[in-house]
Amino acid sequence: MGERNDELLERYQRSVMGVFGLPPLVLDHGSGCHVWDVDGNRYLDLVGGIAVNALGHGHPALVTAVSKQAAEGIHISNLFTSEVQIALAERLLDIAGAPEGSAVFLCNSGAEAVEAAIKLSRRTGRTGLVAAEGAFHGRTTGALALTHKPAYRQPFEPLIPGVTHVPYGDEAALRAAVTEETAAVVLEPIQGEAGVLSPGTAYLRTAREVTQEHGALLILDEIQTGIGRTGTWFAFQQAGIVPDAITVAKGLGGGVPVGGLIAFGDHNAHLLTAGQHGTTFGGNPLAAAASLAVLETIESEGLLEHARVAGDHLADAVTALRHPLVTGVRGAGLLRAITLAHDVAPQLAAAARGAGFIVNPVAPAAIRLAPPLVVTLEQLDSFVDALPALLDACAPDSADTTHTTHTPAPADTPEDPR
Ligand SMILES: *Cc1c(COP(=O)(O)O)cnc(C)c1O
Repeated sequence: MGERNDELLERYQRSVMGVFGLPPLVLDHGSGCHVWDVDGNRYLDLVGGIAVNALGHGHPALVTAVSKQAAEGIHISNLFTSEVQIALAERLLDIAGAPEGSAVFLCNSGAEAVEAAIKLSRRTGRTGLVAAEGAFHGRTTGALALTHKPAYRQPFEPLIPGVTHVPYGDEAALRAAVTEETAAVVLEPIQGEAGVLSPGTAYLRTAREVTQEHGALLILDEIQTGIGRTGTWFAFQQAGIVPDAITVAKGLGGGVPVGGLIAFGDHNAHLLTAGQHGTTFGGNPLAAAASLAVLETIESEGLLEHARVAGDHLADAVTALRHPLVTGVRGAGLLRAITLAHDVAPQLAAAARGAGFIVNPVAPAAIRLAPPLVVTLEQLDSFVDALPALLDACAPDSADTTHTTHTPAPADTPEDPR
């Protein structure tokens, strides 16, 4: 998007492993729901680092907590503990509504939380795992066995055995797949990476029922849906069930890497015993302080309610456009996908970028929006107002599907903190 950008991307290509492809932008800094690239162009960030930047960029509560903790001590290892780590574990149990005896394992990422969940499931004495088609649970080799997309899995096979993938949302298929050999059923309450697909709360209740009948664990991957993203602390709370365990990460640290496994109830909390699992960084004071600040701010700023209101507002506004290229809006709270009549999501994301909006082409015919939970209705409206022209530029018969003539707002607007 400019000279400095191109220069840096050339250096990127020569030095950074190409697993992410070539990113379109080199970002420089952010403030609230905006980010700026190295050429000074401003963008409304409607992806929030993939549902991570729950408080946006530079939120004073998070900046203060991280700065203070960095000065007092970043890391102590798990040979010791800290008050802030204990407080975070207590707070997570509290917001999860976990019964007495439940416990938390803290780690550094989503995939690590899933690894911990897989090991937890092995402690049932069984090895079978049931996951869903379309599932995304991470890239480490254990989590990858649960992830469904063949392009992610096949180059690394053989992966851990015993995993069955069933069609997502199909209650009969789930019933048929769970047996006395099933250690755990692992499901996302809404599949984020698959394009923001909701199976509905009845499916989660069936999953709870079926796992209970067969003595299997129900492990819900709330890495993307948790921490207020869908309008409640965790998406499973909308189904009125109690899972055996949930995984969390993404939004928890507001951008500071952190993950966690929450095991519900005394039995599940004690499946992994001393020496059976561990991590060097997990739950360190910096990550714990950041996470506590995020959770406190979501509460004090009423962001659960706001996620519901803002998400519904966005969905209604996009639907009201009645644009022929838009077929629907999926998801809940501020985890949404706008579905398209043609496979033009990459073009739409590029056009949006050209107009100063960051969105994610999560599928060929769907763009994902997972903005900071602090996004305002006005900011969402500014995107909805721009959307018809962006869609028109992407119509399959339009002459140029990759660029708009729009230029992003310059950096020297009053909102730029620099
Ligand atoms: C992002 C994600 C993961 C993996 O998290 P990482 O931090 O990238 O390892 C796992 N499960 C779900 C549902 C996710 O959205």
